[in-house]
Amino acid sequence: MKQMDYQPLAGQVALVTGASSGIGMGVAKALALAGASVGVNHPNMPDSANQVVEEIRAAGGTAMALSADVGNEDQVRSMFAQLIESYGTIDILVANAGLQRDAALVDMTLAEWQFVLNVNLTGQFLCAREATREFLRRGVVPGRSVAAGKIICMSSVHEKIPWAGHCNYAASKGGVMLMMKSLAQELAPHHIRVNSIGPGAIKTPINRMAWETPEAETELLKLIPYNRVGVPADIARAAVWLASDDSDYVTGITLFVDGGMTLYPGFATGG
Ligand code: NAD
Repeated sequence: MKQMDYQPLAGQVALVTGASSGIGMGVAKALALAGASVGVNHPNMPDSANQVVEEIRAAGGTAMALSADVGNEDQVRSMFAQLIESYGTIDILVANAGLQRDAALVDMTLAEWQFVLNVNLTGQFLCAREATREFLRRGVVPGRSVAAGKIICMSSVHEKIPWAGHCNYAASKGGVMLMMKSLAQELAPHHIRVNSIGPGAIKTPINRMAWETPEAETELLKLIPYNRVGVPADIARAAVWLASDDSDYVTGITLFVDGGMTLYPGFATGG
């Protein structure tokens, strides 16, 4: 990791949920390199979260690990209280934590359905609510950011593309899409911007089976017109832009970062 010369987030405070691996880890590091002090949330995985914090500090950045299950209201509240006590406020929330529990509809248990909805959708609601309470309390501070706050929801191409065998996950991301747009509409008058990133296939632990063998990767590439599997840095760059004043006037969008996966690649030669 190396500090950037251009630090569009200098002096700001960010929280990234699910930041001890994959996309969240990449986003946390990138926000720190862009100048933000970063809360690295993890669901009781202190070793990996502390490693992310150490890397950020070694590169000259500021970070702290924060344990909380994003689906648990009390834990979310106390995580925000800890962050605000340490860094004074919050400017940027990246609601990234998410997981899959895949099954065909007829085999899916109610517990699997509720677990995924609770982490992926309710978790984003709880974190967005706490962040917004602080954004509204503090308001716009000249010289800090022209916005009172920025929320970035980690959605998926599956807010748009149906996904057989993953109805709980697709429903959670479809829910994130309309929650994000509703919050963007509600909060724009307060100068709070709310957007989503819709990653395509990104190499992380969540989808290891889809890319770890050459055969699996060849199959996956059939769905990606740009012909490469994404990496967390692809998402991290988009997150820095959406968090910065460079994207001021952008609110209520999903920025798909997917190598063209949402372009119906099956129609390139058919239809
Ligand atoms: P990942 O498994 O590496 O990261 C998910 C993170 O969420 C983990 O660090 C995990 O510990 C954390 N987490 C899980 N439950 C939590 C909870 N209750 N509270 C707090 N944290 C919790 O996978 P990833 O690919 O980095 O996923 C990050 C986000 O990106 C998810 O929302 C996922 O749906 C989304 N996404 C990923 C891809 C992809 O191809 N990798 C594509 C589209 C969307």
